[in-house]
Amino acid sequence: MIPKLSISPQINEVTLNYLKILKESGFTGDIDSSYASRLTMATDNSIYQLLPQAILFPRSTDDVRLITLVAQKHEFQTIKFTPRGGGTGTNGQSLNDGIIVDMSRHMNKILEINLTEGWVKVEAGVVKDQLNQYLKPHDYFFAPELSTSNRATIGGMINTDASGQGSMVYGKTSNHVLGVKAVLINGDILETGKKTEQEVQQLVISSPIYHTVYDYCKEHRQLILDKFPKLNRFLTGYDLKHVFNDNLTEFDLTRIITGSEGSLAFVTEAKLNIISLPKYRLLINIKYDSFQSALNNAPFLVQADALSVETVDSKVLGLAKEDIIWQSIKNLITDVAGYDMQGINIVEFAGDDYELTKGKMDKLCHQLDNLMVNHTLGIIGYQTCVELAEIEKIYAMRKKAVGLLGNAKGVRKPIPFVEDTCVPPQHLSAYITEFRALLDSHHLTYGMFGHVDSGVLHVRPALDMCDPEQEKLMKQISDQVVALTAKYGGLLWGEHGKGFRSEYSTAFFGEDLYRGLRIIKTAFDPKNRLNPGKICNSLNVEEPMLSVDSTTRGFYDRQIPVSIKTVFHGASECNGNGLCFNFDVNSPMCPSMKLSRNRVYSPKGRAALVREWLRLMSQSGMTSSELNTLNPKKHSTLVGFVKKIYNSWQAKRGKYDFSHEVKQSMDHCLSCKACATQCPIKIDVPDFKARFLQLYHTRYLRPVRDYLVGNIESYLPLMAKVPRFFNFFMKMSITEYLTNKIVGMTNLPLLSTPTLKKQLVGHSTANIKLKQLQQLSNVEKANYILVVQDPFTSYYDANVVFDFICLAEKLGFKPVLLPFVPNGKPQHIKGFLKQFSKTAQTSSDVLAQIAQLGIPMVGVDPALVLCYRDEYKLILQEKLGNFQVLLSHEWLNNVADKVVNTFQVKQTNVEKWYLLGHCSESTQLPASNQQWQQIFKQFGAELHSISVGCCGMAGTYGHEVKNLQASKQLFQFSWQKALAKYPNERCLTTGYSCRSQVKRFDKLTLKHPVQALLELISVS
Ligand SMILES: Cc1cc2nc3c(=O)[nH]c(=O)nc-3n(C[C@H](O)[C@H](O)[C@H](O)COP(=O)(O)OP(=O)(O)OC[C@H]3O[C@@H](n4cnc5c(N)ncnc54)[C@H](O)[C@@H]3O)c2cc1C
Ligand code: SF4
Ligand code: SF4
Repeated sequence: MIPKLSISPQINEVTLNYLKILKESGFTGDIDSSYASRLTMATDNSIYQLLPQAILFPRSTDDVRLITLVAQKHEFQTIKFTPRGGGTGTNGQSLNDGIIVDMSRHMNKILEINLTEGWVKVEAGVVKDQLNQYLKPHDYFFAPELSTSNRATIGGMINTDASGQGSMVYGKTSNHVLGVKAVLINGDILETGKKTEQEVQQLVISSPIYHTVYDYCKEHRQLILDKFPKLNRFLTGYDLKHVFNDNLTEFDLTRIITGSEGSLAFVTEAKLNIISLPKYRLLINIKYDSFQSALNNAPFLVQADALSVETVDSKVLGLAKEDIIWQSIKNLITDVAGYDMQGINIVEFAGDDYELTKGKMDKLCHQLDNLMVNHTLGIIGYQTCVELAEIEKIYAMRKKAVGLLGNAKGVRKPIPFVEDTCVPPQHLSAYITEFRALLDSHHLTYGMFGHVDSGVLHVRPALDMCDPEQEKLMKQISDQVVALTAKYGGLLWGEHGKGFRSEYSTAFFGEDLYRGLRIIKTAFDPKNRLNPGKICNSLNVEEPMLSVDSTTRGFYDRQIPVSIKTVFHGASECNGNGLCFNFDVNSPMCPSMKLSRNRVYSPKGRAALVREWLRLMSQSGMTSSELNTLNPKKHSTLVGFVKKIYNSWQAKRGKYDFSHEVKQSMDHCLSCKACATQCPIKIDVPDFKARFLQLYHTRYLRPVRDYLVGNIESYLPLMAKVPRFFNFFMKMSITEYLTNKIVGMTNLPLLSTPTLKKQLVGHSTANIKLKQLQQLSNVEKANYILVVQDPFTSYYDANVVFDFICLAEKLGFKPVLLPFVPNGKPQHIKGFLKQFSKTAQTSSDVLAQIAQLGIPMVGVDPALVLCYRDEYKLILQEKLGNFQVLLSHEWLNNVADKVVNTFQVKQTNVEKWYLLGHCSESTQLPASNQQWQQIFKQFGAELHSISVGCCGMAGTYGHEVKNLQASKQLFQFSWQKALAKYPNERCLTTGYSCRSQVKRFDKLTLKHPVQALLELISVS
């Protein structure tokens, strides 16, 4: 039995009182001081970990104002605040041991758009891609780009002055912020915007902030001009230079706030400049024999008047090739025969004049052809992309590259600390040579890519932060890189801001200007209460700044024994890059996060909680073998059972155990497995969730429904023998009432009638015995297929299996229905790991034996079939038998040629079909949609793939009463909208869960694609 973890770091009295008064004062947002939430906010994408006291989630500017007004009370003067957006900072910018004010959960509305004047007004928590999705139908976009665009917020972008690809033309965030509404620490509201000299003079009289900033920046103008580097990237901190325009006729306080990392004010709203989308975008992917060749060639490419030039090295390319993302671009960056592609440059041209834009691209292609003939500059080939969809796919890969850099095998993980240096582009190549020599001298591995047009280089050297010596090395390298960038007239923080690197500020600003920053900080925040330790302190505060060698996550992680970490490996591997916060409802990534907007219910949150849980468990004396969840200590004795009853009763009474917080987070997980493929580090939450649940229930009782779900495969075949009998009861409202109230399940489906067995009467081969199959010759076997049953399709949606068998028959095959063998997936989901391991072994043995026949085995439900490949592999490891169960499209794809020959398409089916992807299938088998399209083409039909997120059913998740509302909302996010848009009778889906969800909420029966194919054959 696992121990109780009853102690969590206490919240100080002052904060507790503050939270109480805040609530009483009418704060309408959420107040969260749970340890789970605090842990989730204790990290970002950096190497640091700093536990806050509490988190506030305001709903409006008024709420933010209230936060500051209550904080003015004498007794709360010690409380510090840090605003937070997506939490994707790479240098601890949003970390603080005070109170975090998360602007992303509720303050995410687009408020106003003015196309005539070209601006949009948004709340600070709006995500950059959310904004551009909104602007796209208007043919506009918000231009500053960043890799984390699907989760970083406008507030975060403003405060880090974010930028990325295209910055030479489009600039940085600060170039596009027309004004902000911000709440100062004293509760005042500050609204900024461009002011004429006359206007600013008025403000200088009435506002101490205007007075200070105006006077300081004017007086020190020459020093500022001399000190600020002539780079595309500014000296983030407070932008003393651009607060005035070049001829000092305009003044804009906005520029002081952009890049201030939450140290001056809470930005609640922003007015942003938007520009027309370029009508034409064209891309060339140029391939090189070495990364150095790619770098050397970059200045030549910049001269081609390109919008942007991005370089990627072979290490990053290699990581991308191992990721799901490569599927979408593998045809756009193909290998060059006879060469080893060691680097690429991605060159984009954009404009409204097609001839001009195309002309630029053609000219460059022509030049590249000549260079290739002469074998100069290491260019080994190039490919152009002219379709927008293709261009977007290339950039999706490029955007994922930073995250992919974090994905390396072994204990040394690529980490951010010198990852965004910037030097004048003309020095980039020489600088990189020295940078590489520096890293090589420490025997470190690393991948590199960057915006070569603006001289920004992304590097994440691989270090093991659990090793204190390597932690010291990190500091040493930081110091060396500071010196190196200074030598080349560059910056340590070319893109991702300062955060814990603020200690180096004086090295770049110099003592005089650094004092200027402090003067400005004092005008905004005299008591140093906003994001203390970042950028600079106010004048009267002499506390040290947060430094590069502050407490890291490694400090906590190294307290977990390696043997324990290995069992729950996903939890420790998460590097916090936040891709799992993806806001887009049409992406499969983490439905539970999307729905709740609560980071605790994200893969990152779950990983953080499990790490801490393991740390506390090992501190409580649990050993790795006790945590090896396949061998939990048995407590089937009466005493053990009584103990469990007592523990569960205590839990009901509210007795604290940190395990409950972890459990609650896991309860919201749908086990959809999107994280296992979409996350750049492939964090597999369902794997460690199952391990956790198994252990949790050694201490606490399970609800009855866990047993019902976990054992469904044992009683379902029995129930299916008399389906009408059970359906009779299931249809009664009293049954629904009782299952609802007693078991906590709802809308349970009816068993199929007639049963699959009945439907197959008369199908000569369907029920053939194993012995008969063994007697077949190899030639005869070639015509057979074996249909592997899963509990849900066979017993609840038998028509699908039947139609698949009919389809195979029509195509000239002899399908044989294999006897039902439990798969075990429901046991895995509910964390009956020991039972699952047994089920998986039995099933694997049976299927491995059948596989010896050499006849293809095929199943129709993706979640269940993929379980053989994934969960089975993890649990059985080397005991996994040698067998393969194909999905219907994989088999159809394999026999496509035969299909075309035997089945003559008589006419082209003109009406289109639409495939709404099953999340597990489209994430684990990214080529599946394309393959289905190909298959439909061979049948003379056109299939369109529709991007949808999770349908909200996910096996039995949607049938649990406590999840009903969430399940419905998830369905409404993308599925219901897609179904309203496309003709329902032409909409298809492969998952049983998805079909049953559509049936329950939209009263529609969607077909499996095999049923559509059968229909196509039947009418031809
Ligand atoms: C994989 C990866 C790739 C990245 N690529 C890029 C890139 O291409 N370009 C780039 O510029 N950056 C990049 N970053 C860094 C990061 O995404 C950016 O700095 C981003 O702008 C942070 O936005 P956020 O919403 O996550 O802000 P957070 O990380 O939450 O906060 C960042 C800072 O802004 C402050 N802040 C946030 N909201 C407010 C507000 N409303 N009012 C006041 N202060 C606020 C916080 O206090 C903090 O100091 C990358 C990060 C990762 C993990
Ligand atoms: S779970 Fe994956 S995507 Fe999410 S923060 Fe961790 S590593 Fe990034
Ligand atoms: S399995 Fe799905 S719901 Fe659970 S953490 Fe992963 S993505 Fe989120």
